[in-house]
Amino acid sequence: MRLNRILLVITGLFLLGAGYSEERFYMRKENMINSQIKARGVTNERVLKAMHKVERHLFVPPMYRHLSYGDHPLPIGEDQTISQPYIVALMTELLELKGGEKVLEIGTGSGYQTAILAELAKEVYAIEILEPLAERSQKLLKELGYENIKVKHGDGFLGWPEYAPFDAIIVTCAPKAVPPALFEQLAEGGSLVIPVGTYWQELKRLKKIQGKITSKSIIPVRFVPMLRDKESKKRF
Ligand code: SAH
Repeated sequence: MRLNRILLVITGLFLLGAGYSEERFYMRKENMINSQIKARGVTNERVLKAMHKVERHLFVPPMYRHLSYGDHPLPIGEDQTISQPYIVALMTELLELKGGEKVLEIGTGSGYQTAILAELAKEVYAIEILEPLAERSQKLLKELGYENIKVKHGDGFLGWPEYAPFDAIIVTCAPKAVPPALFEQLAEGGSLVIPVGTYWQELKRLKKIQGKITSKSIIPVRFVPMLRDKESKKRF
């Protein structure tokens, strides 16, 4: 009986260790890129390289860390989620970043998507409406050495006029309709990638061509709603 218990504890510790080792994470990351991302048609080499480089498990709360490279979103606290890896890769690919861009991100959450963008563009301006998440991601991104990211606690519906126009804008929470300020702050020729809708949502890529909108539907998606400033304050 006693021996059984000791064996159980040893097995438990072994499994825990195996689940968390860096080597395991590396293998799971490789597997994620091949089976979830490349297999579904994301081919942009720069995007794939960034997905290799950024360690997703560093952005996931400790209790879910072993699930970091799974094919699904995960809770990050405050009722919010870190997006599914494939969706992060797809949305990033749709921005067609070459390296010199100024990017606006709305819905920083864990900061994972922000780090991917920072690998691929010159500067990233990131807005998060929930203060604890804004603080946490800002701290983590700084610790990881990113110097081309500015995180602000604020309302993404307003964009970030001080730094506009942006060559690319990505929104990782869903409004009912595209916020006008975001389209206004998009540079000529730039892309805005955004989920739009309530229960049923569609991922869209908008482009500003000679001041006019062109819009393309990409796939149906499921994101957390884009909160109005008042809604975010009611929560505390
Ligand atoms: N890209 C993030 C996704 C987090 S979920 C990640 O992968 O970790 C979406 C985030 O959008 C949440 O953190 C939520 O708080 C934030 N959000 C919701 N409404 C917002 C708004 N109006 N302005 C800025 N951020 C908002």
